[in-house]
Amino acid sequence: MNSTAPSSADLSYIGDRIAQLQAEIPPSVCIIAISKGFSAGHIRTAYSAGLRHFGESRIQEAEAKLAQLADLSDCTWHLIGHLQSNKARKAVQLFDWIDSVDSLKLAQRLDRIAAELNRIPQICLQVKLAPDPNKHGWSPAELLDSLPQLAQLPHLHIRGLMTILPAGLSPKESLSLFLKLKDLGDRLQASPVCPCDRQQPLVLSMGMSGDYPTAIRAGATQIRIGRSIFKTSSSDESI
Ligand SMILES: *Cc1c(COP(=O)(O)O)cnc(C)c1O
Repeated sequence: MNSTAPSSADLSYIGDRIAQLQAEIPPSVCIIAISKGFSAGHIRTAYSAGLRHFGESRIQEAEAKLAQLADLSDCTWHLIGHLQSNKARKAVQLFDWIDSVDSLKLAQRLDRIAAELNRIPQICLQVKLAPDPNKHGWSPAELLDSLPQLAQLPHLHIRGLMTILPAGLSPKESLSLFLKLKDLGDRLQASPVCPCDRQQPLVLSMGMSGDYPTAIRAGATQIRIGRSIFKTSSSDESI
């Protein structure tokens, strides 16, 4: 994050980027602006340009920004980063959605905490579609095995699936993995022990700045866009 807060004039490019993105994608696809590493001012500018969904990957960074943005009461906050169990309570307090639920143990813990706090967080289950030592998530087989237990967590509103692809794939390879997530979503919905709300379309959170057009082709309902909205050549991405 820049140590000197940029003036709002410096951030006017953000509105243009959002307008371009919105012109390019179907209106049914929800843009989640991923603001990790960017300031509360960046988020406020994206809000003024019409976005309401924001994603952060670290609890501490999010907590500081949310405090500065408390007046934006109609924002929906998504946690998109790996959640350590000792931060689960804070996550339920701060975020409306937890998109990165990557194990049954974490889901069960979140359910207990949500009950205590009298909250019902919206949940995406994070799936790892290709081996990647740096990524967390269920394999498709593990997830299908866990459905009966996941269906017994009344304080979580499980909405769908999220995935992050390994870096460096060709568009063709990316398309094939995104289609795998779509297929897994279809299998979930067809399962007699589907843990998701059947009244609502299943959420597929997939696609980032580098691959969102491919993800949309494969059926993404939410795309998570950071750099294409916020980054400039002078952005400091060190945090
Ligand atoms: C950082 C991040 C994004 C956004 O990536 P960009 O390439 O900046 O669009 C999306 N999803 C997750 C999980 C991330 O950590």
